[in-house]
Amino acid sequence: MEPGEAASFILREYSKCMSCGFCEAACPTLPFGPHRGYGPRGRVRLASLAVENGSISAEGVAGIYTCLLCAACMLRCPAGVDIVGVVRLARELLARGAIRAPERIPLRLVG
Ligand code: SF4
Ligand code: SF4
Repeated sequence: MEPGEAASFILREYSKCMSCGFCEAACPTLPFGPHRGYGPRGRVRLASLAVENGSISAEGVAGIYTCLLCAACMLRCPAGVDIVGVVRLARELLARGAIRAPERIPLRLVG
């Protein structure tokens, strides 16, 4: 997918999100992260901000790359947000340099 299409997809999926948080209860990584960016709602928001800004923080990258792509969150989403698709495309944009990221990424897990 071209970067422009990927960016549009991410923004479209984010626009569906109602911030209800139902997805968060299903996410296996959220309890082990230091903030909501380690969960589905936060990841969709992080990806949309990264597209809007053309860059992402180290914490944002950590959130995007700690997703297991398990899709458990999507079973709970009443709005049908393609959370896994958003995370996959955010990674693709990062890998292609379409979203700028810091060189050093801290992965902080708590529990
Ligand atoms: S796909 Fe990612 S965000 Fe969704 S439940 Fe699995 S780990 Fe959490
Ligand atoms: S369940 Fe769906 S609509 Fe609700 S916060 Fe999560 S992604 Fe957004």
